[in-house]
Amino acid sequence: MTAPKPIEFLKGVGPERAKLLREELGIFSADDLVNWYPYRYLDRTKYYKIAEIGADEGYVQFVAVLQEVKELGDARRKRLAVKAVDETGEIDLVWFQGIRYIKPNLIAGKQYVIFGKPSLFQNKINFAHPEVEPWNPQRELKTGLQPLYSSTEKLGHRGLNSRGLERVIRPFVLSPDFQPTETLPEYIRHDAKLIGLKDAYIKIHAPENQKDVFHAQRRLKFEELFFMQLMFARQKVANKSRNRGFIFGEVGVYFNRFYNEVLDFELTQAQKRVVKEIRADCKQGHQMNRLLQGDVGSGKTIVAVLSCLFAIDNGYQACLMAPTEILATQHFQGIRGYFAKLGLQCALLTGSTKKSERNVLHEGLREGSIHLLIGTHALLEDVVQYKNLGLAIIDEQHRFGVEQRARLWKKNTLPPHVLVMTATPIPRTLAMTLYGDLDVSVLDELPVGRKPIKTLHKTDSHRLEVFGFMDQQIGLGRQVYIVYPLIEESETMDYKDLMDGYESITRRFPLPQYRVSIVHGKMKPIDKEYEMQRFLRGECQIMVATTVIEVGVNVPNASVMIIENAERFGLSQLHQLRGRVGRGAEQSYCILMTGHKLSHEGKLRLKTMCETNDGFKIAEVDLKLRGPGDILGTQQSGVLQLKMADLAQDAQALAYARELAIKIVTDDPQLTDEKNVILRQHVLQLQRNHSRWANIL
Ligand code: ADP
Ligand code: MG
Repeated sequence: MTAPKPIEFLKGVGPERAKLLREELGIFSADDLVNWYPYRYLDRTKYYKIAEIGADEGYVQFVAVLQEVKELGDARRKRLAVKAVDETGEIDLVWFQGIRYIKPNLIAGKQYVIFGKPSLFQNKINFAHPEVEPWNPQRELKTGLQPLYSSTEKLGHRGLNSRGLERVIRPFVLSPDFQPTETLPEYIRHDAKLIGLKDAYIKIHAPENQKDVFHAQRRLKFEELFFMQLMFARQKVANKSRNRGFIFGEVGVYFNRFYNEVLDFELTQAQKRVVKEIRADCKQGHQMNRLLQGDVGSGKTIVAVLSCLFAIDNGYQACLMAPTEILATQHFQGIRGYFAKLGLQCALLTGSTKKSERNVLHEGLREGSIHLLIGTHALLEDVVQYKNLGLAIIDEQHRFGVEQRARLWKKNTLPPHVLVMTATPIPRTLAMTLYGDLDVSVLDELPVGRKPIKTLHKTDSHRLEVFGFMDQQIGLGRQVYIVYPLIEESETMDYKDLMDGYESITRRFPLPQYRVSIVHGKMKPIDKEYEMQRFLRGECQIMVATTVIEVGVNVPNASVMIIENAERFGLSQLHQLRGRVGRGAEQSYCILMTGHKLSHEGKLRLKTMCETNDGFKIAEVDLKLRGPGDILGTQQSGVLQLKMADLAQDAQALAYARELAIKIVTDDPQLTDEKNVILRQHVLQLQRNHSRWANIL
């Protein structure tokens, strides 16, 4: 755009309203104003007759004369009741709030346009809080669609409600003064069939029909997604040229011996593909920064082991970091066996490693006699120094922050290659947005022979039946998890639920026939570990726990997961928990226990769980239910502030934008080609305006 025009100079604004626009909506300039998009349009071409309005109609509008504008109820619970009448019938309108602002605008005997959503109240259709405006036949003929803008109460009092904003924005975008600078070159617009920027602004704010809105939205969404992806693509190129990396030339004896002699199953096609991707990436001379996404049970650990062997074959050490002690220990116990067969050393370092052991371990790392170090974030401490660290693997990345990752980089002269593994599938659209600067590998296939877990929803009144089922499974030699929610805000109550649950279980499943163990966050790590080990060795049949067992824990003989108060868990957490079973050859079950009353969303979550085992599908539903900000936590959600595009809905446009951005940056990294000059200009502008992009070359 041309130099941002301060908002007060627009017709109909002036200093006072400009101040309010700045304070209330963050609108500083004419640019900001035209980017304040309508959230919906009112179709001015379709009017209902009152007799045609049914209770399930959705939003409708009709023209009617108001009668009987009355305030009813007592001082505490006032309501404004109005009757609206046309030649086909009458209908009630009602307001419970803001009566003092609304009432003066409603004059009995006059004609109004009424817009709202009908609902049924005591068997009569009424409208609660409809939008009501005086009927003006002349204006109605001019515009087919009326844009609706969000505004605030304060702005509303100064004449800048939705209608007021329209009265400022519309003439501005239609005036010859409005000359936004095009940001997309002709060739892109042509290939993607997009309208020009000026045209898009006109059509978004002053559309004549739905087609206009469609084309405008398409253009503006694309623009938003494309520039985001263009920035990512540039960042990736910049990272690669900035961060030189170790070159792992070829696989050698350890990798091959493991593959041919030790590994006792065939890799899935997905595992083979991902190992290839990692090998190719580590050969290039730049640092690998790769995200490995794979659903629970997809076999990420073997990919990690093969990658470590690849590093070791090339004369480097590797480390594997896990978020909890239980997980680190489990990785260690699994991998130690493989390494012993190859004559390689691996070691475990966690918070509870003794000082004397530590000293030996530090020494072994510095000398290079330890090839792989497995542990918790204790690995990051400065005293942990390697002879030659070449690869760092982080399991379950969502628990580690970016700064922690960065500390790994300093463990050698060049930053080691980094592989981040996550079992929380992120919808593709989100991964592209969030990790646009990482390379992503996906394990989208489970090892053959797995039986899909059967998931059932049971209400509390079926508890005896569930106990019976547990008994039967235990009789078959299986083990059972029972998980209770533990939410920080209601911690005390949650612990009480857990202990009550534990008690009723021990009563129903008493010694000496049954053994029940319990694990929760308030226990000392060493006690937790002890209980986990008992369960792992099959010495107890039932484990009662909070979500500490959520991540990674592997007990193949456990075949039943019972989740208490399942409605209180989010979808991804439910899916993670369910992933604790179904790891052995037996049919596994997940039973979701809830009370009778469930919210609409709660029902949808449970239904989704019962219908599918596919983590990526579940993640898509989760994205639709919660939106990207909630899924990623607030600190990351800023990244995802999109004005027009919707990650859940515009997946195709995003994929296209990404592909195009990568192609452009590959062919012309600095965007200096004649045809890309306007891209470069806009990119520079974005970098000036948004600190997030500031450090890209
Ligand atoms: P996750 O991706 O959840 O970390 P794991 O790496 O723990 O999964 O693997 C789950 C189980 O599947 C392990 O017992 C592992 O040995 C086994 N496994 C992994 N890959 C295969 C395969 N290709 N064929 C058969 N079993 C496999
Ligand atoms: Mg794992």
